[in-house]
Amino acid sequence: MYRIEKAAVIGAGTMGLGIAGQLANANIDVLLLDLPGAGMQRNAMGERALERLVDKRQPGLLHADLLQRISIGNIEDDMPRLAGVDWIAEAVVERLEVKQKLYRQIDRVRKPGSIVSSNTSTIPISLLTEGMPASFRREFAITHFFNPVRFMRLLELVRGADTAPEVVECLARFNESRMGKGIVICKDTPGFLANRVGVFAIQTALHAAFAMGLRPEEADAIFGRGMGIPKTGVFGLYDLIGIDLMSDVVSSLVSILPRDDPFHAVAGEIPLMTRMIRAGHLGNKSSRGGFYRYADSANGGSRETLDFERFEYRDFDRARPELALRAERAGDVSLLLGQDDQYASYAWEILSNTLCYAAALVPDVNESLLAIDDAMKLGYNWLQGPFELMDAIGVDNFIQRLEQAHRVIPPFLQSAAGKSFYRVTGPQLQTLQADGSYRELKRAPGIRRFSEERRTLRPLDKNEAASFFDLGQDIGLVEFHSKANTLDARSMKLLSDAVEHASQHFKGLVIHNDAAHFSCGVNLEGVLQFIETQDWAGLDQFLDKFQNTVKSMKYAPIPIVAAPSGLALGGGFEVLLHCDKVIFHANSVSGLVESLVGLVPAGGGVKETLYRWVESTGDETRAAWKTFMNIGYGKTARSPLEARSMAMYRDDIDEYVMNRDRLLDRAVEAALDLSAAYAPQRHGTLTMPGRGVWAEMQAWLGKKQQQDILTAHDVRTGTQIAMIVTGGDIDAGTPLSEDEIMGLERKAFLSLAKTTETKARIVHMLRYGSPLRN
Ligand code: NAD
Repeated sequence: MYRIEKAAVIGAGTMGLGIAGQLANANIDVLLLDLPGAGMQRNAMGERALERLVDKRQPGLLHADLLQRISIGNIEDDMPRLAGVDWIAEAVVERLEVKQKLYRQIDRVRKPGSIVSSNTSTIPISLLTEGMPASFRREFAITHFFNPVRFMRLLELVRGADTAPEVVECLARFNESRMGKGIVICKDTPGFLANRVGVFAIQTALHAAFAMGLRPEEADAIFGRGMGIPKTGVFGLYDLIGIDLMSDVVSSLVSILPRDDPFHAVAGEIPLMTRMIRAGHLGNKSSRGGFYRYADSANGGSRETLDFERFEYRDFDRARPELALRAERAGDVSLLLGQDDQYASYAWEILSNTLCYAAALVPDVNESLLAIDDAMKLGYNWLQGPFELMDAIGVDNFIQRLEQAHRVIPPFLQSAAGKSFYRVTGPQLQTLQADGSYRELKRAPGIRRFSEERRTLRPLDKNEAASFFDLGQDIGLVEFHSKANTLDARSMKLLSDAVEHASQHFKGLVIHNDAAHFSCGVNLEGVLQFIETQDWAGLDQFLDKFQNTVKSMKYAPIPIVAAPSGLALGGGFEVLLHCDKVIFHANSVSGLVESLVGLVPAGGGVKETLYRWVESTGDETRAAWKTFMNIGYGKTARSPLEARSMAMYRDDIDEYVMNRDRLLDRAVEAALDLSAAYAPQRHGTLTMPGRGVWAEMQAWLGKKQQQDILTAHDVRTGTQIAMIVTGGDIDAGTPLSEDEIMGLERKAFLSLAKTTETKARIVHMLRYGSPLRN
C-alpha cells in the first residue's frame, strides 16, 4: 500500500515551486531541490523559489506561514535526503537527457516503495524510463500539473506500460483529496488531453483570425467569453503565456504528433509573429508588450493593441461584436453560429475544427468523452467541454453543417447522430460511450459537481437570479446564477422564500453554486439605477429586504451551510456571515469591499463583523476599531487561512476543503450533522463605545487625510463606518440591538449613496472593474 506523507520536488522553476507550494498548502513537508548555485549560494534557486511563492501578485501559498513546510537544497549536497520521502516529483527542464540522468541519481538514494513522477509535457514514459530497472518503472508515472499549480484544477495522470496500478491509485487519491486536483487519467499520447485539444483550438483561432483579417479584439471576443472560454481569448492568451514560449510549445507538439494529425495544418509560422519575437514583443512579460500592451502612465496607462499593418500600437478598441455579447449573456454557444457574417464564420471555423478534433480522439486517445471535457474545463477553464459544446449546438445540426461543408465526420460524432453526448434518464445523467451505449456519469465518493446534478433536478422555485432545489436527504439548495452571481431583489426574494420553505420541509439548507464565483456582491448596476432616479425609498426598501433575508437565515429553525468558491465579496460575503457554518474552498477570496466604491456594508456585514470581534476580543472598543479598520480598508482575504486573522473565518466552526468538487458533499454532510440537535444561536444587544471612540476614529481619519493617505470621500465613508461601529453620537455603554445596528448601516449607506463621489466610484467600478482612486 503506497502512502504519501512526505514529498520532494526536484526543479524549483515555475512548475516545481508551484507543486512544492501546493504540497505545503496540503500540510505536507516538502524538500525542494534544484541545481547548486555558484559560490556560497548553494541553494540560491530554492531561495528564489520561496520568494516567488509569497509574491503578493500571485501567492502560491494559502498563508505565508506555510513556507515553513518547505525546506530547500540542491542536487549535489542533498540527494541523500530523498531517502526519507514517499513521493519525488520531478519538474526540471524539458530535456530528456537531463531527466534521465536525474532518475539514475534518484534511484540510487530513494527508498523502495517511494513513487517518482515527472511533470513532463511532451516526453513519453517509455523514453523517460529507458534503461531504468523494472523496480523504478513500476513506481514511476507522469503527473502533469498546470500553471499556476495552486489555481489550476487539472492534474493529468499518465500510467506507463510498467507502472503498478497501486501507484496510479495512490497518486490519484492523494492529489484529488489533499492537493485538490481534478484527476484525468490519460494514455501516454502526445500532449495528453488538455494541451492536445487546447493548443489545437488556440492555433485554429490564431490562424483563422489572420486568414480572415480580424483584429485581436474581435477574435478574442468570439473565441472568448462568447464561447465560454476565458476572456484572454487567443491573442490575450498568447500574451499571457509568452509569444516565444507558446511558439516553443507548438514546435514541440509538431515534433511529437503523428504526421497526419490535423494539428500540422494550424502550426505553421506566422510572419508577423516571427517579427514580434525578433523585436522583443513577447507578451505581458516584456516591457514592449505583445499583441496588447499597457501604455506608460504618462499616457494614462491605457490599453493598446498592435496594429498588424503598421506594426505600431493603437488604442484598444473596446467595441465587441454584438453576436459575442448575445452568446455570452445567454450562455448559448449556438447563437454564435446562427448568423451570416464574418464573426459567425470565424466561430464556425474554430468550433467545427476543434470539436471534430476532440471527437476524433475517442476512443484511441481516450475512451471517455468525460475525460476530454474535464480536461478542457479544469485545465483551460472552459465553461463547457467539447462534447457539451456539441450538445449545445445540437449534434444533428452540427453534423448537417459539416456535411454541407463536405467535411469528414469523425466516427464517434457520427455515432451520436440522432442523440446527444450527455443525456438525462430519470435521476441519472449519462454519457455516450465509444460502443454507442450510455453509462451513468458517476464520480468518486465525495465528489459532487452541482452543475452536473442540476441537470437531473427540477427547481422548486426559480427566477433569473437564483434557483431553489430539493437535493434529496431532506436538504434544500439555493443556487445563485446571475452574471458574476451579483445579488439583487430577485436573489433576495428567492433566498428568503427558500429559507421559509426549507424551514418547514427540510432538515437543512445549503447555499452553493458551481460558477467561477460564489457572488461578487450586490448588483451595482441596480444600486446605480436607484441613485440615478433618486429613488431613495426604493433603495432603502431593497436594503431592508436584504437585511431581513439574511436575518431570516440566521434565525431559521434549521441549519444553513454555505459552500463558496471563487469570490465572495460585499453582499455575497454578508450572506456567508449569516450562515451557521461555511465550508470554503481553499482558494476562495472573501471580504467586505463596499468602501472601495464609497459605500458601507448594509446587509448586516458591519454588525456581524462587530459581533465576531467582540466574541474574540471580549472588548467592545477593540472590536469597534478592528471592524472599522477591516471594513474601512475594504480588506480581502485570499484564502480561508488569511481570513482567520480578519474574523472572516471561524476556526472552531468553519472549514475549508482543497478540492472544489468536494464542497457540496461536505456542506450537505455538515448540514445534516448540525440538524441533529439544532437551535439558532441568538445574539443579544451590543454595548456600544459611543461618541468618544467615534471622535477618536474621526481624528484618525483626519490625520490620514492630512498625510494624503485618504481622500475627502474616504474620510466621509470612514466616518459613516465609525458611526455604525460605535453607535455614533450616543453615550458610551448604550446597548444597541441587532436591528438597531442594521438601521445604522442603512442610514450610512443611504447618506453615502446620495453623494456625487460615490456615484462616480460606482460608475468607474462598473466600467473598469477596478476602484477609482482620487
Ligand atoms: P523552468 O525552466 O521554470 O524550471 C526548470 C528548473 O529546473 C530550473 O529551476 C532549473 O534550474 C532546474 N533544473 C534544470 N536541470 C536540473 C537538474 N538536473 N536538477 C535539478 N534541477 C534542475 O521550467 P518549468 O516551466 O517549471 O517546467 C518544468 C517541467 O514542467 C518541464 O518538464 C515542463 O515541460 C513541464 N511543464 C511546464 C508547464 C508550464 O506551464 N511552465 C506546464 C506543465 C508542465
